[in-house]
Amino acid sequence: DEVPRASLLDGLDPDQRAAAATTTGPLLIIAGPGTGKTRTLTHRLAHLVATGQAAPEHCLAITFTRRAAEEMSERLAALTDRARHLTVATFHSLGLRILREQHARAGLSADFGVADEARRLALLTELTGDERQARRAAAALSRPGDEADPELAELRQRHTKALRERDLVDLDDLVRLPVEILTADPGLTAAYRDRYRWICVDEYQDVDDTQYQLLRLLAPPDGNITAIGDPDQAIYRFRGADVGFFLRFTTDFPGARTVQLTRNYRSTPPILSGALQAIAPTSLVPDRVLTPAVEHPDSPPLGLHQAADEQAEAAFVARTIDQLLGGSSFHSLDSGRAEGHDGHELSFADIAVLYRTDSQARALLDALTRAGVPVQKRSHDRLADRPGVRDILRELTFRPDTSGGEPVGERVVDRVRLAARAALALAPERDREAHAAEVHSALDLLGPLATRCGHDLDRFHTELVTGAEVDTWDPHADLVSLLTLHAAKGLEFPVVFLVGCEDGLLPLRWPGAEDTEAAEAVREERRLFFVGMTRARRHLYLSHAARRARHGSARPAAPSPFLADIDPALCQRVGDPAPRRRPRSQQLRLL
Ligand code: ATP
Ligand code: MG
Repeated sequence: DEVPRASLLDGLDPDQRAAAATTTGPLLIIAGPGTGKTRTLTHRLAHLVATGQAAPEHCLAITFTRRAAEEMSERLAALTDRARHLTVATFHSLGLRILREQHARAGLSADFGVADEARRLALLTELTGDERQARRAAAALSRPGDEADPELAELRQRHTKALRERDLVDLDDLVRLPVEILTADPGLTAAYRDRYRWICVDEYQDVDDTQYQLLRLLAPPDGNITAIGDPDQAIYRFRGADVGFFLRFTTDFPGARTVQLTRNYRSTPPILSGALQAIAPTSLVPDRVLTPAVEHPDSPPLGLHQAADEQAEAAFVARTIDQLLGGSSFHSLDSGRAEGHDGHELSFADIAVLYRTDSQARALLDALTRAGVPVQKRSHDRLADRPGVRDILRELTFRPDTSGGEPVGERVVDRVRLAARAALALAPERDREAHAAEVHSALDLLGPLATRCGHDLDRFHTELVTGAEVDTWDPHADLVSLLTLHAAKGLEFPVVFLVGCEDGLLPLRWPGAEDTEAAEAVREERRLFFVGMTRARRHLYLSHAARRARHGSARPAAPSPFLADIDPALCQRVGDPAPRRRPRSQQLRLL
């Protein structure tokens, strides 16, 4: 079929275009990192509604994080006006929407609340009569389906009952309850199928059992469902995700078309080759083809760095950033700036430092702050679980009694600020400074969210409870990004530092893991390493420290076994960047 010249598919290559032009029936797009999966999905939806093949109200796109949903909405709006009424959601926000519409079926009022972890813990403490026991129960209850233990099953029942009595649901309920409601009423399921006639799911390799069940309810076996993903980027097993659902898509949706994308638009050949070598030993896509889509003259090699300890590693990152930016923190006159893609000059926003565990950020923050490098640090953890945020949350009174003395219509931003002040005043005697820093940085995170929620404290609370820290990551800010590997999913940067490439840290090793479990865990760690490497467009640095403080004491650390799978010919050892000599006159001017 002829596609109009200036169509929305023009920005796609022939394979991507074939995928995007397949508008009916089940479709599986399986492709490696940087092959334009997310871009294809976005253009496909824009094309669908712009050509009038689908009404925007009938389209549903599901992304992994709210940040990804926002980005996709922005892109869609830029591509076509008609995309405005299209639903871009996460599984949580989709579940919440269905639950708000069907609240009565779950025994809830229309404006039920979503319990945060603190609230959940308080309830469990009431039920078990002991906080330590409550903590253990909370952890056990969030593990899916372990009802073999009758005591646990009973506690789950009592906990659910207590939540409902208070007109609350918890995070797990947001998808679980819609599944129950739809399963119980085929008529209602048919109505939702009629509403969401086109469904696209990005990052399908990381759906969990409940999300999968919801999708099976919403999409009939011959429905217009598109799943997009890369099994080698499945990294959320610890939260219950199961790559098996991706692998059986064509069985669940018989007659599904499968499209592979093989051209990588993101990374230079050394980065691509290195990443493919690193994933090869346990790849779930053994016949993977992934080639650079464009030429990259003068691609830099992968930089390998061994530091003495984590402080020295952080100092290496800070020095190298300074060097890449041509000594920007000194406003040097020499034009020593490295280039990103397309020959553009690098800025802070082009740089990300990725690490396995959030605690590694401490040394990096110290070194970068000292070097005058502005940063934004985000993990994949729930926003509401962050210590400073928890303190502010506790001080916020939700659902103010509008008949009482509480002034109605107070702005959420002001209430959050008040709560932060109260939280500061309640600082513990010890660690007062650390506590204050946590509350202040939490306030920075919550500011934009509070502003976006127009006087609606309930909405603010719900978004906060369902959101991850990385949802507040700002792609437009000129800041260096400090991200956990999990949080970096789907993102790309001209410059990436992957730090802490050490045995025991990446792969991370937990004491006492079962042998079979351990093997699968290491495979997932390798995928995480693969995800990290493939975030880089042009400059990739892999670093490790010879000693690292873990559990309170400095221990010797060996390089990650994953590094050994990368051809040394692709790499260059980088040590201390030579100190740049400044012209004497300039040094004087700086003084
Ligand atoms: P990941 O697996 O990491 O999520 P992805 O397959 O979703 O990656 P995208 O993020 O959609 O990949 O695309 C990677 C980069 O390549 C983006 O900068 C995108 O704009 C660019 N890109 C993709 N396809 C094309 C194309 N046909 N022409 C130009 N640039 C493209
Ligand atoms: Mg993507």
